[in-house]
Amino acid sequence: MKQSLTFIPTLREVPADAEIKSHQLLLRAGYIRQNTSGIYSYLPLAQKVLQNIQGIVRAEMNNAGASELFMPAMQQSELWQESGRWYSYGPELMRLKDRHGREFALGATHEEVITSLVRDEVKSYKRLPLALYQIQTKFRDEKRPRFGILRGREFIMKDAYSFHSSFDSLDEMYSKMFRAYSNIFERCGLNFRAVIADSGAMGGKDTHEFMVLSDVGEDTIAYSDHSGYAANIEMAPVTAEYSRQEEPAGELEKKETPSQRTIEEVAGFLQIEKEKCIKSLLFKVDDRFVLVLSRGDHEINDIKVKNLFGARIVELATQEETKQAMGCAAGFLGPIGVPEKIEIAADHAVRSIVNGVCGANEEGLHFINVDAERDIKAIQYADLRFIREGDPSPDGEGTIKFARGIEVGHVFKLGTRYSVDMGASYLDENGRSQPMIMGCYGIGVSRTLAAIVEQFHDEKGIVWPQQVAPFDLHVIPANMKSEAQTALAEKVYQELGQAYEILFDDRPERAGVKFADSDLIGLPLRITAGKRADEDMVELKVRKTGEMMDVHISELAETVRRILD
Ligand code: ATP
Ligand code: MG
Repeated sequence: MKQSLTFIPTLREVPADAEIKSHQLLLRAGYIRQNTSGIYSYLPLAQKVLQNIQGIVRAEMNNAGASELFMPAMQQSELWQESGRWYSYGPELMRLKDRHGREFALGATHEEVITSLVRDEVKSYKRLPLALYQIQTKFRDEKRPRFGILRGREFIMKDAYSFHSSFDSLDEMYSKMFRAYSNIFERCGLNFRAVIADSGAMGGKDTHEFMVLSDVGEDTIAYSDHSGYAANIEMAPVTAEYSRQEEPAGELEKKETPSQRTIEEVAGFLQIEKEKCIKSLLFKVDDRFVLVLSRGDHEINDIKVKNLFGARIVELATQEETKQAMGCAAGFLGPIGVPEKIEIAADHAVRSIVNGVCGANEEGLHFINVDAERDIKAIQYADLRFIREGDPSPDGEGTIKFARGIEVGHVFKLGTRYSVDMGASYLDENGRSQPMIMGCYGIGVSRTLAAIVEQFHDEKGIVWPQQVAPFDLHVIPANMKSEAQTALAEKVYQELGQAYEILFDDRPERAGVKFADSDLIGLPLRITAGKRADEDMVELKVRKTGEMMDVHISELAETVRRILD
């Protein structure tokens, strides 16, 4: 490809609103442009990288036994009503109306469409298992679109769905997909990890996320320093054991704590450790209120709360709701003397507290000398807090450490979540109707592109792993006015063009500009026809290492092969 004929608008300046490296570099190197918040155009270089990633994805999906199809982005609301997600998906789902006033969603995901499709066509166990996938644009009106294409509102996803007549068959497909995903991210050159995840709103069971390790990742991975255990922090169970604090219990007493609301303030004011404080937060769990307790130095994990109650939605009660339900503002809430209709759930660690402190459900007052076992009534204990660094690993081996990750893929056993609601059933060997058992498997294709850049760049620009690079070679005549240089570069372009994808910089720019752009764009190998062109010598530069060498044209093909393969 001649550079003068394509469209690579590079920038010298770092765009002001791009916070992270991948976003900055993809803009600067002319790969992407924003149309509006969270919505991007992929320019020719990015399109090539996407095609390379998609090529790898297709090969691995086909190998796992899945067939490619292509489903509509525009989906009638009736399908989403059948699954119940028209209501539960919330404002992330983009909705629109046609000229007749019929409601539609722009596909945020395709469980509804594929389930209805397979439901209408597959009637017998003989047609199962069946695995289908597509690579398509998805729409999600994200609350905080950010980091460029890492979290967009319109993005490219590979989504696969499988249908089974037994859980064993689902397990088998899940393992195949798991292997395929590992292969895909390995072939993309990424440093990643598969972690145990939360099944969340999808409502299934087994699930793993594939995380690219990166400090800019929005997810925290809890992993064992001793074993292969790794889980999303949202999900990691806490197995720490607590024993009752050994001290004589004092008498429960109310203390004035004027305007001391936070755990820090209360602990400081009463001169006690945070571990002695009982944190009390009022949550709205679907349509009821639950007071959730943790130790003052622990964080309540709302996903665990959600799972404990099997709820669809869990959120902190608003100020008004808190006032109304508890008769007191947040900051002074506590588990003693709670209105009967409000349930209390506490993290296990709370149980061992003796001579602790909690809000008294009155403005400006706290209880001291709280003995959890003695004083808190009608309570259920469960694992409700976030795991912390230093906690024992849930698999019993080693202790927990944290790392940050970018979620690029997600494999998921859905079970019968959609098939039951949408009536997708088949006839088994005995002629009995059974709901299909399903799995779903997603990869953020455009997010993967950004994640690769996040892992592979230096101060000069992007450093593509060869498997996904938009071109293999960047061929540059240093001075377009020199006939020897342009002729030699043209010769290299012709001769190596059979075996490699080449970007040929035929622009009448200064050599310095071309070299800077070349480093920015990040192709694996640069070949320059420069001062020694009349000796038939070119200069090679390996982008990754910066290593340079002069090579005679007669040895070029061999040298390039050695470096690239
Ligand atoms: P996240 O927690 O990052 O919002 P998710 O759990 O909503 O992700 P899934 O519904 O599992 O994501 O979608 C499958 C894949 O699609 C994700 O693993 C991710 O790689 C990608 N993806 C999800 N949301 C976005 C987005 N807004 N922009 C780009 N890629 C996305
Ligand atoms: Mg999301």
